Amino acid sequence: MRTVFPSPEVTPGHRPPLSARRKTSCEPIFSTQTANSLAMIIITRPDATEEQIQHIVSRIADWGLRAEVSRGEMRVVIGVIGAEDKIRQKPLGAFPGVESVMPVLKPYKLVSYEFRGTASRVKVGDVVVGSKEVVIMAGPCSVESEDQILSIAQSIRDSGAKILRGGAFKPRIGLQLLAEARRESGLPIITEVMDTKDLELVAEYADCLQIGARNMQNFSLLREVGRTQLPVMLKRGMAASIKDLLMSAEYILSEGNFNVLLCERGIRTFETMTRNTLDLNAVPVLKAETHLPVVVDPTHGIGIRDFVPAMALAAVAAGADSIMIEVHNAPEFAKSDGEQSLLPKDFADLVRRVRCVAEAVGRAV
Ligand code: PEP
Ligand code: MN
Repeated sequence: MRTVFPSPEVTPGHRPPLSARRKTSCEPIFSTQTANSLAMIIITRPDATEEQIQHIVSRIADWGLRAEVSRGEMRVVIGVIGAEDKIRQKPLGAFPGVESVMPVLKPYKLVSYEFRGTASRVKVGDVVVGSKEVVIMAGPCSVESEDQILSIAQSIRDSGAKILRGGAFKPRIGLQLLAEARRESGLPIITEVMDTKDLELVAEYADCLQIGARNMQNFSLLREVGRTQLPVMLKRGMAASIKDLLMSAEYILSEGNFNVLLCERGIRTFETMTRNTLDLNAVPVLKAETHLPVVVDPTHGIGIRDFVPAMALAAVAAGADSIMIEVHNAPEFAKSDGEQSLLPKDFADLVRRVRCVAEAVGRAV
């Protein structure tokens, strides 16, 4: 049994297969879990020329090390990664245009804020996460039917959501329905990949891959998504510390994929009145520790429909770059997470309030 919706736009293969899109020029190198790797940062002078920067980058490549160039408003930072014994011998400070050189001392290197010296922006389709705009992702927990996903996609788009979410738990049909909803609504889609064996298929459709909380430390899955160049949203495990989350993200970046979003979705505590405890402390801490954009999922974080809006507003006030909200047109019939899903009209109301809070903290929606 194949395509139930055989229009050309939703037929698998509308993109080259994943194997063809894997980055081949970026050899899997500096897994930070390799004991002796080191990351150094070269801070260039404000007046460093483009020629000087290119010279540094090409010398680093000649040495068999990798350079990651980040352009801030004032100056360019060049992150250098490689085996410690190799890096230590190199005169990184000797190039014209260099102001200072220092090692990244944190256990997570590539994800650390200093490695880039500026906040990263991650593009999901044409939507930029990590700019002044707070990006709203919304959609059902699971894709259930054509009517369900098309109607939710349209209503959340009309209310101001920029990315459509949906779990495709029957992968092929769910992904085809999401692709159809993308075509109808114009919204890029984020969906979960649960297993390495599904990655090839999910990557044919998704604009952003979601790694679920239960898979945060599935290192083979992290490495595999790191070998794609697709954006990846990594959800914090329910018993994971902020540092654990950063260390997991490091696996993805180590493989060459810097298009990573980190998602706070609530952790387990002794509290039983709510599904999880949304750890909004993580937002400012992550913003300080990493250059990666931060997403908050208040829906799973509190797990009770009536309380989701308050936590969504709090997440934006705390500095989240994006929020993810579950929305269902008939929550009482939802196959999963109906009790925490907002009705479309309540979502529309929430977006209006999110806009006010965003503006109050110097952001926009
Ligand atoms: C989801 O986003 O529907 C989901 C399953 O989330 P989590 O992995 O955070 O439980
Ligand atoms: Mn869910």
